[in-house]
Amino acid sequence: MLKKDARKLYREKRMQLTARERDKLDDLLLIRMQTAPIPFIQTLLSYWPIAASHEPATQLFSDFLSLANPSLAVCYPRTDFKNHTMEAILTTDDTTFIQKENNLFEPDAQTVIAPEQLDMIFVPLLIFDKAGYRAGFGKGFYDRYLACCRPDCIKIGFSYFEPVERLEDRHEFDVPLNLCITPEQVYVF
Ligand code: ADP
Ligand code: MG
Repeated sequence: MLKKDARKLYREKRMQLTARERDKLDDLLLIRMQTAPIPFIQTLLSYWPIAASHEPATQLFSDFLSLANPSLAVCYPRTDFKNHTMEAILTTDDTTFIQKENNLFEPDAQTVIAPEQLDMIFVPLLIFDKAGYRAGFGKGFYDRYLACCRPDCIKIGFSYFEPVERLEDRHEFDVPLNLCITPEQVYVF
């Protein structure tokens, strides 16, 4: 399947889910996550789920990791749409988030964490394939950012849907996931 067809199909499938169905799927993702081979980590880059895109409830998953490590540093992206780049901004429980013109919520905070410091990244996706490749929103923000991260940084996806067989149009800059969690299972790549 081509990424553009996969994006369209899975964007539609996700938009058809009711709030009740998504709540249930988020619970299942959290249950599956508890069986995933996740080591002790110090620094996480999460993302604020776009409500209008029906993205999974990432805060459930970062809260779970914070239980294992109460001093976990949790960062959120600040994006630059001019250059198609992003930075990891450190947050605390008191950080407020501001809605930007592109509908993204970004932390109202200034401490930038270098990409090399991140131990784990929640990577947004519309769908993934059985080799861990993903179709994102199509702008390559994460591919560009992941290229700057340590090779042992754990890249983890959350998907309400099981993978497609293969996303055929992989590019050399596409960075695959290490783990992907679905309501049914944990995929390790
Ligand atoms: P996504 O990963 O968001 O689904 P793609 O993998 O299709 O999107 O990438 C979208 C675009 O991002 C590509 O067409 C490419 O121009 C650009 N891109 C991604 N990563 C890089 C990179 N490391 N260097 C330069 N351009 C990149
Ligand atoms: Mg890509």
